[in-house]
Amino acid sequence: MGSLILSEKPHAVCIPFPAQGHINPMLKVAKLLHHKGFHITFVNTEFNHKRLLKSRGANSLNGLSSFRFETIPDGLPPTDVDATQDIPSLCESTSKTCLAPFRKLLSKLNDTSSSNVPPVTCIISDGVMTFTLDAAEELGIPEVLLWTASACSYLAYVHFRQLIDRGYVPLEDTSFLTNGYLDTEINFISGMKGIRLKDFPTFIRTTNSESDDIMLKFILVETERAKRASAIIINTFVALEDQFLSVLSSMFPPIYSIGPLQLLLNYVPDKDLKQFGSNLWKEEPECLKWLDSREPNSVVYVNFGSITVMTSDQLVEFAWGLANSNQVFLWIIRPDLVSGDSAILPPEFLAETKDRGLLTGWCPQEQVLNHLAIGGFLTHNGWNSTIESVCGGDAMICWPFFADQQTNCRYCCTEWGIGMEINSDVKRDEVEILVRELMEGEKGKDMKKKAMEWKKLAEESTTSPNGSSYKNFEELIHQVLLSTA
Ligand code: UDP
Repeated sequence: MGSLILSEKPHAVCIPFPAQGHINPMLKVAKLLHHKGFHITFVNTEFNHKRLLKSRGANSLNGLSSFRFETIPDGLPPTDVDATQDIPSLCESTSKTCLAPFRKLLSKLNDTSSSNVPPVTCIISDGVMTFTLDAAEELGIPEVLLWTASACSYLAYVHFRQLIDRGYVPLEDTSFLTNGYLDTEINFISGMKGIRLKDFPTFIRTTNSESDDIMLKFILVETERAKRASAIIINTFVALEDQFLSVLSSMFPPIYSIGPLQLLLNYVPDKDLKQFGSNLWKEEPECLKWLDSREPNSVVYVNFGSITVMTSDQLVEFAWGLANSNQVFLWIIRPDLVSGDSAILPPEFLAETKDRGLLTGWCPQEQVLNHLAIGGFLTHNGWNSTIESVCGGDAMICWPFFADQQTNCRYCCTEWGIGMEINSDVKRDEVEILVRELMEGEKGKDMKKKAMEWKKLAEESTTSPNGSSYKNFEELIHQVLLSTA
């Protein structure tokens, strides 16, 4: 590969999948590239752009001359509801409808008569927005896919085809969800010895054939098309996920692990870019003050991310489990957390915990997880939450909801030593026992120690020029983004 001497600034178009856990890491990559001298166009869906403006204020996305925001439609019917969109519908509509408006946007950016930005030189696209590869190939420019989840989950996803070919998936009928079949061990995947069907991303839990199941079909197409990318970047680090990264490297275009992105970003002076946040809900930062008033390691932090929904019965089980544990807690209850209902907590629970529990709707999670008062995290194991927890040195109780969360949970609990799983059919007694164990028990202490070791390794991989993620990011720029094949 030879180096291309660009007469103008290189221009990266960054296009995340339109969900919170995808926009956050893509914005970090965009800020890092901007710091390295790239002109940035960040592409949101119209729906999310409106929500970002609402949650962050009208001027928050005005951009800089060298960092601009553009929008394309997501293909779903318009709505004013500020809630998480249905993920399968979003996967289907983005993959079917977004290429045409994306192409149009690229030609607008490349039209020198009307555009005052440098020509587009590369595309950074979400790993599940691979329709963008067509556009990159038409322009003859490199495209890098950002896989926003873990390397272990990617390795699990790319084996869906084999699970189908070997007859494990689809399930014969729905009784296979509960008859112990999901405990079946799968031992043909290098790097994942002992993984059970229940640890795979949940989209294998279907009785439909691949042609009638939106998510199964979607994953098969996305993982296959990824092979056409110039490179794949993952928000993880070698010390944590080497066993998966090395297998993926033998199957795919060059893989660069460049995480934790939040630590790599510590280098970037944030003065101009601070205003660009990516929260779709309005942050309630008051909880940081409340944490300041608490003892070190004394607070259980509870947050299930942006997509998880639960029944009101499950909410009540968590509530009484927390109350009965007698621990201090910060619990983030998103307005749309309870399915088909508003989150109503028993008045007796509120009365009993009023002096030791804070409930709020959305928080600055990275800051919370880094706060000294936090002693443990009850999480759904979304990958961003998991890696943010590693950066904070926090041990976890894991209640995975869907997608890759089951896979992340497995490795947190069985290999990385930083998690304890809670039964999906959550009951207050188990919550109470696990929360006490996390905050006061021997296992809790061991997990916390391990979490601090991972935190140190995460820092080493990003803070020194010899760190793997630091080096990989530099190499990505020089070997892929500024190169011609
Ligand atoms: N997040 C946040 N405040 C909240 C809840 C979530 O800032 O109150 C952020 C969190 O830091 C993470 C993202 O939203 O970066 C959630 O992504 P994750 O992959 O953990 O889960 P998902 O929402 O995709 O299920």
